[in-house]
Amino acid sequence: MPHSQLRIVIVGHVDHGKSTLIGRLLNDTGSLPDGKVEQVREMSRKRGMPFEWAFVMDALQAERDQGITIDTTQIHFKTAQRPYVIIDAPGHAEFLKNMVTGASQADAALLVIDAGEGALEQSRRHAFLLHLLGVRQVAVVVNKMDRVDFDEARYEAVAKEIRDYLGELGLYPKAVIPISARGGENIVTRTDKARWYLGPTVIEQLDAFRPQQTSPDQPLRFPLQDVYKPDDRRILVGRIESGRLRVGDVLRFAPTGADARVVGIEAWNHPQPVLSAHAGQSIGITLDKRIFAERGHIAHHLDAAPRIAHRMAVRLFWLVSEPLVVGKTYTLKIATAEHRVTVEQVTAVIDVEDLTSTPGKAVHRNEVAEVVLRSRTPIAVDLAADLPRTGRGVLIDGNDVVGGFLVVQIEETATANI
Ligand code: GDP
Repeated sequence: MPHSQLRIVIVGHVDHGKSTLIGRLLNDTGSLPDGKVEQVREMSRKRGMPFEWAFVMDALQAERDQGITIDTTQIHFKTAQRPYVIIDAPGHAEFLKNMVTGASQADAALLVIDAGEGALEQSRRHAFLLHLLGVRQVAVVVNKMDRVDFDEARYEAVAKEIRDYLGELGLYPKAVIPISARGGENIVTRTDKARWYLGPTVIEQLDAFRPQQTSPDQPLRFPLQDVYKPDDRRILVGRIESGRLRVGDVLRFAPTGADARVVGIEAWNHPQPVLSAHAGQSIGITLDKRIFAERGHIAHHLDAAPRIAHRMAVRLFWLVSEPLVVGKTYTLKIATAEHRVTVEQVTAVIDVEDLTSTPGKAVHRNEVAEVVLRSRTPIAVDLAADLPRTGRGVLIDGNDVVGGFLVVQIEETATANI
């Protein structure tokens, strides 16, 4: 069976070598279209530069501009193991927004750090975003090792610094790989310039990652996208975010608390009705009785319910120049639900440099903070640490996504109050 595609993001401080690494990955795995290397050579020559791998990205972009490929953000390459797609190219305008909204949904990430400079502010900010997004499979590449003569002590110092930082976020990199993206060392081919390094090459590490597990063994969360009434039936449609459900199961709908039994399941791409469905599948279900259910409600089993809350604490990344302020109201989106929420408190603004925090009244662009949100309507929600799909969301102001968050604490509302 062919291995399924792995979705990766490549993050790191500007100029630390993300584009160069991408150029190398494409070239060294034989994934570049014919003529690209010549085009890059010509681009480099015209600008009076030595061969510049980072121009591979520009060359691919130029091709897109001529309308040859439709997809503008995804870059594909292949190893003997499996196909890969790099979602979100560095420098892409929507990069942070995609990260924060989870549009990226990467299986794994490479964090690129310049061996000479070490982890700078942007490296830390991106690491924080990986944490916020719940990307658990992370490898660090310590790039430009040629500039420090493949010095082991320098590598160790950078590796320790970034491991310590990531560790505080609960992220444990699977490998910290010394490379030279420019020279192609330790990307596809192992170099003997760093014999002291016994770990994997970039490609070996990528091949060792696994597509992110959908989670059929976790509690069921089936957020409703819509309710269709094709004839005299009502079909509740959505995507199962975790767990599984079967015909005959009794479901409860949060936050209303209404119960009903599943009498039929139709799954996308299945011509016949199915008896069960699991996380990752888009389905439609019919119920044994008419209950009030609408977009945003979450179906679950009786023994493992989401929390119902009017107040919660979230860890937030703020995206826009207009700051988040205490007292202001935003639209909160978790799974398919939308609620109006007011910022009650900024408990802490977190310094991404050293992860220390101070209380504040506002959160500015690219800042991370812990914030208490209050809603008039009951919100069905989970802790991100338990169930990331229903424990993560975004804030919207007007039509703009202004921040992304993880739910870190929930003040449960007694069900009788709903
Ligand atoms: P990005 O902003 O992270 O995408 O960085 P680029 O890939 O554009 O690289 C920034 C600069 O660093 C370019 O001039 C590259 O040629 C250079 N560079 C990238 N990787 C290496 C490397 O391994 N060694 C050296 N010496 N220079 C590199």
